[in-house]
Amino acid sequence: MPEILKTQGLVLSKLNFQESSKIVRVYTKDFGKMSFLVKAARSSKSKSGNIVDALNNIEFIFYKKESRDLQLITEATLVNFFPHLKENYESLIYGSAIIELLDKLLHENETNFRLFRGVIRILELINSNPGKGGMYFVKFLFFFLDELGYRLETEKCALCSAPLSISANVGFNFEEGFLCSECKKDRLINFSFSAEQFKKVQCLSSRDSNCGESPELIEKLIGFFEKYLSYQIDEFKEIKSLKLI
Ligand SMILES: [Zn+2]
Repeated sequence: MPEILKTQGLVLSKLNFQESSKIVRVYTKDFGKMSFLVKAARSSKSKSGNIVDALNNIEFIFYKKESRDLQLITEATLVNFFPHLKENYESLIYGSAIIELLDKLLHENETNFRLFRGVIRILELINSNPGKGGMYFVKFLFFFLDELGYRLETEKCALCSAPLSISANVGFNFEEGFLCSECKKDRLINFSFSAEQFKKVQCLSSRDSNCGESPELIEKLIGFFEKYLSYQIDEFKEIKSLKLI
C-alpha cells in the first residue's frame, strides 16, 4: 500500500515525460532530494503542473511506494515563488546556481533541516536584495560547504592556529586550508588574499551581511569555490549556471 505524505520542497529541475506528464526533482524538507512524477502536468488546466516549476518553494501531497523510483505528486500549492529573484537577471543566475549545486551535489533521500532552512533563507535574501546576489551566493557557498562536510576555517591559520585577522596576507592550500603569511612561505599556495581582502572573506563567511561592496572579490571567491569543490569532489567541474553571466 502506498503511503500518503505531505511535505514542503524547492523544485530543482523538471523535464517532460511521455505525452503530458513531467518528472521533477525536488529538494524536500523532510525527505531530502527526491524525484516525482506529476501526471498531466503539461495540460493548461493542471494547477499542480504550473506550480511545480524550478525555483518554486511548494507544499505538496504525494503517494510513496518503496518499490518505485518515482513518487507521484497529487496536489501542490505554492509557498513562495521568489518573484523579484526571477525578474532580475543576475539574481536569477545566482538562484539557478544554488539549485544546480543542490541538484548535483546532494545525495538522494538525505534529510537536513538546517540546510533546507538555510537554502530558503538565502533565496529570500536574494529575492529581496537585488544587486546583492553575488554576496549572498558566496555566503551560501561557505554554508553549503560546511553542510557537505568541507568546512573552511577562516579564523585561524590551519597550521599554527595564529589568528588570520592579523596576518599580513593569507594563502590557501587545497590540502591544508587558509594559512598565515608565515606558514604560507614554504607551502604551495593555490590562492592568495591581501589582508584587506581577507577581512572581507571573514565577513562573507560569517553571519554578518554588511560586508561592503566588493564585486572583484566576489568573482575571485566564486572561482576559488569552484576550484575547491572540484578538488574535493571528483565528478564536479564547474557551476554551469554562472557561465551565463
Ligand atoms: Zn600559520
